Amino acid sequence: MESELYDLSIRLARALLDRGEISAVELCQAVLDRIVAVENSVRAYLAIAEQEALAQAGLADERIRAGQAGPLCGIPIAIKDNLCTRGLHTTCASRLLEDFVPPYDATVVARLRQAGAVLIGKTNLDEFAMGSSTEHSAFFATHNPWSLRHVPGGSSGGSAAAVAAGEALAALGSDTGGSIRQPAGFCGVVGLRPSYGRVSRYGLIAFASSLDQVGPLCRDVVDAALLLEAIAGPDPHDATTTDQAAPSLASTLAQTDALGSLRLGIPREYIEGLDPGVERAFWDAIDLLEQLGAPAVELSLPHTRYALPAYYIIAPAEASSNLARYDGVRYGLRLEGQDLWDSLAKTRGQGFGSEVRRRIMLGTYVLSSGYYDAYYRQAQRVRTLIRADFQAAFEQVNLLVGPTSPTTAFALDERREDPLSMYQADLLTLPASLAGLPAMSVPGGFAGELPVGLQFIGPAMDEATVLRAAHVYLEAAGWQRHRPALG
Ligand code: GLN
Repeated sequence: MESELYDLSIRLARALLDRGEISAVELCQAVLDRIVAVENSVRAYLAIAEQEALAQAGLADERIRAGQAGPLCGIPIAIKDNLCTRGLHTTCASRLLEDFVPPYDATVVARLRQAGAVLIGKTNLDEFAMGSSTEHSAFFATHNPWSLRHVPGGSSGGSAAAVAAGEALAALGSDTGGSIRQPAGFCGVVGLRPSYGRVSRYGLIAFASSLDQVGPLCRDVVDAALLLEAIAGPDPHDATTTDQAAPSLASTLAQTDALGSLRLGIPREYIEGLDPGVERAFWDAIDLLEQLGAPAVELSLPHTRYALPAYYIIAPAEASSNLARYDGVRYGLRLEGQDLWDSLAKTRGQGFGSEVRRRIMLGTYVLSSGYYDAYYRQAQRVRTLIRADFQAAFEQVNLLVGPTSPTTAFALDERREDPLSMYQADLLTLPASLAGLPAMSVPGGFAGELPVGLQFIGPAMDEATVLRAAHVYLEAAGWQRHRPALG
């Protein structure tokens, strides 16, 4: 329990670094040794940047000695492999980008480097972030550190598993329809999807541009706030970023131990059809929140059941357009055919896996003339109604709270060949994505050996309230102090 260096929170590690009790190189080496010990069973990483990481740790030690270190300096962090890293392979877990080495850093990666963070490696994901289990990676599946027979969730399954297993102190993931929150819930870590526009998408390989956001996966809520502060804020490279400066959250959070006069809403639609273990953990969490002074009332978000069909029209539509660039001409895989069309068909037919091809076909279909009005336009209307549901709810309450997923982690291979049951895993994360709201999963107990996620959803741009409630809950509940028995 928090005795090993690789198990520290960012804050504790920083305190030890500042007092000179450990060095950044030692911390980095402890994480690299942990990777050697457990990676064969977890398989969270597609690539480990050992030499680069040790070199960055050495530089971090110099900054620390010179008294020029910010809160992330010397902290080992893992990066989802759909974020561009200059000079390091960025594959999106796809054959198509297997050999791609980006010439630039994503803005979030550049900001972490500037902050002196130590980038440990690139984590596994479902190909192009399309999936909920990390089994759609073209390379291999990642295993849940709490039970190796189970999936870690997805698509940021590698990032969530790495943090849970002690293979990084924190990680970046991306969330289009739930890909930070759902794996965080399945792996018993904290995961924050920021408001749309809060964090730059520049250098995040696009899946569905009106939904994609980058965010942190961590061991506690203050760590998530620290990472958010480092990566958030305006970016001239992404016109959808807010012009509000990055919020300063972590320092006030660390001193907060009360919920104040928060009113919580439980969406009735989010508590139907839950697994019994999830249901029990959820109501225990609500009891604790009420003891902490936040009364919860049930309310309705009436269009919730249309979120899944609307998302699976909008996201594939945007994906089909974003993925059109992989033509084998400028970069990525190129398979030669008899003529241009044949080369295109071979490159895209063999370069993309079956789930990505399914999305491209679905997306192209719903955008095609004659079907656009029936599907795409209709889905956009539903999106507006979902947004309005949330607006109405936030007139009554300050925050919404529900489970992150209806079930705990499912077994490997259980849903791999069944797209509809795979899509169901995001039932409770899709609505906030469609509405562009900040949402967070924190460890909310266990059902048997597997963690249960508790989700907080806030009004747009109000990460502060989401983080405050999540922090007070988690410090009182203490679930973040549990570690899987690995290695
Ligand atoms: N699982 C959802 C999908 O497959 C969400 C993925 C994500 O958020 N990147 O689209």
